[in-house]
Amino acid sequence: MNVARSSPDLLARLRDVLGPAHVLTDADAMAPALTDWRGFYHGLAAAVVRPSTTAEVAAIVELCARLRTPVVAQGGNTGMCGGATPDGSGRSVVLSLARMNRVIEVDALNDTMTVEAGCVLAAIRERAADADRLFPLSLGAEGSCQIGGNLATNAGGINVLRYGNTRDLTLGLEVVLADGRVLNQLRGLRKDNTGYDLKQLFIGSEGTLGIITGAVLKLFPLPRTSVTAWVAVPDAAAAIAMMSALRTALGGRLSAFELISRRCLELVLRHIPGTRDPLSGPSPWYVLTDVEDSASDAPLREPLEQALATALESGRATDAAIAGSNAQARALWRIRESIPDASKDEGLLYRHDISVPISAIPAFIDEAGAMLESRYPGVRIVCFGHVGDGNLHYNCYIPGRERGDPVAVKAVDVNEAVYDLVHRRGGSISAEHGVGQSKYDELPRYKDVVEMDLMRAIKQALDPHGIMNPGKVVQPGATRAPTPP
Ligand code: FAD
Ligand code: ZN
Repeated sequence: MNVARSSPDLLARLRDVLGPAHVLTDADAMAPALTDWRGFYHGLAAAVVRPSTTAEVAAIVELCARLRTPVVAQGGNTGMCGGATPDGSGRSVVLSLARMNRVIEVDALNDTMTVEAGCVLAAIRERAADADRLFPLSLGAEGSCQIGGNLATNAGGINVLRYGNTRDLTLGLEVVLADGRVLNQLRGLRKDNTGYDLKQLFIGSEGTLGIITGAVLKLFPLPRTSVTAWVAVPDAAAAIAMMSALRTALGGRLSAFELISRRCLELVLRHIPGTRDPLSGPSPWYVLTDVEDSASDAPLREPLEQALATALESGRATDAAIAGSNAQARALWRIRESIPDASKDEGLLYRHDISVPISAIPAFIDEAGAMLESRYPGVRIVCFGHVGDGNLHYNCYIPGRERGDPVAVKAVDVNEAVYDLVHRRGGSISAEHGVGQSKYDELPRYKDVVEMDLMRAIKQALDPHGIMNPGKVVQPGATRAPTPP
């Protein structure tokens, strides 16, 4: 049962703004919004509200600010860090952007698209394709995540190597601030040096500074030719050397470069029906790579084949398969995309979405493997990721730790061991999934003191009452006194 402990005043006024149909207070109706998709996080709320315009969002936030009521923005609820799940107080208003799903404008000549925050990513990609354009952000959850959630988490995905993160794909934003005012920067400008770039504060802020209600996104020429290859490599160092050679040979046309360990492939073959090993013999590591071009007659296959032949001669690659059809390419990508699913039923998985400089990846993989094996003999490491971005999903099973065991689930020793190593290598403990509530306690351990102070100061300036998604990322607060020299 969800106990609404908020003032009746709040609910009555929310109904005044939105009409009763879009203020959900019934426990069953609210339930899907009060837990994350994996069932890891659970919260309570006074109401789930479903505005359909920026003016309605502004009115709700203004009301919540006056009543000091927490507001939790929720997009497709596909996030990995519990960011969209309210706390257990029952005081929060969960603000769903789902009804704000209109495409406002596609400007093919400006290569921009103006959208409301609740547009589902796949719909944005389809709408861009209808205009013969590409919106490059692509990830496994694209059928249900929303662009507002992608912006709020600065999502990555498989095309970052060529096109960048969501941050790099955004020209303008509209944001409802914590006091209910609207920051309107829905501008499709590629150049604008008139002071601080405010939109960047909200991208990646996970709903803790304001509610994103709209965005101007960058579009690109639609790829018309593509080649996909699955390559066996002896180790990560060989993969990275090969990537560097492919970039030289193919330039910006190299659009994805994913590293996959043999254990990941085995998990997929075991758990995902209809998958098969693309090569005849085993290899400790694989690379899945995509090369794309916007010209329909671009000769891609030949330069890729040549580059792979050089890699085979030099020993950086030991075997390779180039997809001969779209169906074959899709089958290769299905292996990569199924790894999270294939690894969820084999035991308690300690997950780490980390990044280190690309050049440090081989040493990190060696060190982390040796460290985990010495501390937890028999550890099974499930390592894959967007190696072209320095981003590894470095996950592991520890012998004797089972999924149902609450002590093992809460244990942080494995995470700390991995994160300490990441930190020593100059890396990040969250490359693309964000902080949310899952890394809230860990963040101050790894972020520089000055960085944490500035984050708290920004939070304090933009959300002085701490109503925007409390308990996530960072709390507002005074900056720490500088340490005397
Ligand atoms: P939600 O989960 O609803 O919210 C996420 C955070 O953003 C919360 O803190 C929420 O409060 C905030 N938020 C949501 N909407 C707004 C808004 N309009 N204004 C302000 N704050 C808001 N992520 C990657 O980066 N790369 C991947 O490759 C990737 N692959 C995935 C594959 C699968 C199968 C799944 C399930 C998830 C994957 N994710 C990946 C994680 C997730 O899909 C992304 O983080 C996504 O960007 C979240 O969008 P959402 O709309 O679901 O946001
Ligand atoms: Zn990822």
